[in-house]
Amino acid sequence: MSIRTGEQYIQAIRKQKPDVWLGGEKIENVVDHPYFAQPVKEIAKLYDMQHDPEYQDEITHIDEETGQRINNSFLNPTKPEHLQMRRRLFEVWAESTFGLMGRTPDFLNTVVTGMAANDGFFRQYGEQYGDNIINYYKHVRDNDLFLTHAIVNPQNDRSQSSHGQQDEFTHLGVVKETEDGLIVRGAKMLATLAPITDEVIVYSYPGFAPGDDKYAISFALPIDTPGLSLYCREQAQSGERSTWDHPLASRFEEADALLVFKDVLVPWERVFINQNAEAGNKLYAGTGVNQQPSHQSAVRALAKISFVADVACSVADSIGVDGYLNVQNQLSELIQSAETIRALVRTAEREYEVTETGEVRPNLVPLETIRGLMPHAYPRAIQILQTIGAGGLLMSPTEADFNNPAIADEMTKYYVGRTDVTSERRVRLFKLAWDLCGEAFGQRLVQYERYYSGDPVRKMAVFYKVHKGKNPTYPRVERALEEGIELADESKLKA
Ligand SMILES: Cc1cc2nc3c(=O)[nH]c(=O)nc-3n(C[C@H](O)[C@H](O)[C@H](O)COP(=O)(O)OP(=O)(O)OC[C@H]3O[C@@H](n4cnc5c(N)ncnc54)[C@H](O)[C@@H]3O)c2cc1C
Repeated sequence: MSIRTGEQYIQAIRKQKPDVWLGGEKIENVVDHPYFAQPVKEIAKLYDMQHDPEYQDEITHIDEETGQRINNSFLNPTKPEHLQMRRRLFEVWAESTFGLMGRTPDFLNTVVTGMAANDGFFRQYGEQYGDNIINYYKHVRDNDLFLTHAIVNPQNDRSQSSHGQQDEFTHLGVVKETEDGLIVRGAKMLATLAPITDEVIVYSYPGFAPGDDKYAISFALPIDTPGLSLYCREQAQSGERSTWDHPLASRFEEADALLVFKDVLVPWERVFINQNAEAGNKLYAGTGVNQQPSHQSAVRALAKISFVADVACSVADSIGVDGYLNVQNQLSELIQSAETIRALVRTAEREYEVTETGEVRPNLVPLETIRGLMPHAYPRAIQILQTIGAGGLLMSPTEADFNNPAIADEMTKYYVGRTDVTSERRVRLFKLAWDLCGEAFGQRLVQYERYYSGDPVRKMAVFYKVHKGKNPTYPRVERALEEGIELADESKLKA
């Protein structure tokens, strides 16, 4: 197979029987469950775009190795133009969900492609691990699979490392090795969209302490592997509310799940890192697994913040407040945030880096700068939307009110906006804004921008340490000090 259609994706996940739990109930059929049904359709739409003549050449290409058409996220960039091919894919797919779905298939395709492009990293710990990651990449690429990932240990006692937790296997670790593979037990989070994916890949952020080797593992498995349970967080929407009332929340919610492995067999050919804290700690630096996927995240974040800016401008315009200086200032701030992200994405692509193996990577500094900015810029964007929409965000009636003839005239009269903005238009716009800035759905979107790729506090600290490593001295400061002394000496001579 090469590129899948939406229907092929749906059929594939319909055949699976993952052990999914939501609100205390086991979900036997995720595809038709109201909570998952619309997100499944949104993902299917992305796969269908691969076959749409309008997008096909922009988001897919013919693979040199297989002669098959594949998604651009499976392209290992070896030329700067490849970064632009990838970006176009990221843009097209992100725009399809207004940037509100972060873990669309391109994200983990990029992760796996990056790992396979750096198979030497895995190989240094055993030839078979290098072969395994390459074979896994081909499996995902050739079947056009949709992956989730679980890379964080459950939030139990953060003051202790994995081996210091109350139970030896609260955090996912290896119980034993067998002829067939590893037996793993314990939990990992926070696998976004897991119930509607084909497979899960497990790896970890650096941070393994001495004694943590058995927890330092990386592998991939089908999502319905026996012994693997998916516990979804409480849903932010039921999936049964009208899209008139909740045009975003009823479409784009990404279910997040805790994955619990109950003595699960990981076949040897699916193991990439085996109980090796050194490999676990060096994975990010050794494969750039943070760098290529950050390109996807940055383009997606740009789509999201640009969408919020458009919504805020539309809200302000609809009630005639965009003529006020304070409102204009806030809207400009929001637009400039989006433009800053846009400029950084372009800089990352133009000032690309080439690795020793010839992989072209977008520049990490602007990408990490975006990662540092978004946890502030996005909550601020939402605050601006709340401030401009003000009480109107809460004072919205429902579709049912408009449809009831007994009160329909009042609905049509009292919710109008400025000239030419009908009640229905204004109410629907404000409800769309409320999905972003008031609903639990919108609060998750804020939390996502803060934490989707790790703790921003520690990421900023790492950024500074890397900066300091590259800039151990500060010549500009030295020159300013020297020139100060020279000028002081000159004035002494004159005196
Ligand atoms: C909406 C959403 C979707 C996500 N999707 C995924 C996904 O698909 N796959 C996945 O694997 N993960 C996903 N994540 C998880 C994400 O990677 C984690 O939330 C992130 O790594 C932060 O970890 P934590 O939430 O456990 O917070 P913690 O690490 O427990 O941090 C809690 C607080 O304590 C502070 N803190 C903790 N430890 C330290 C320390 N050592 N030094 C200084 N301060 C510290 C932090 O700054 C923070 O304020 C997602 C998260 C969110 C919110």
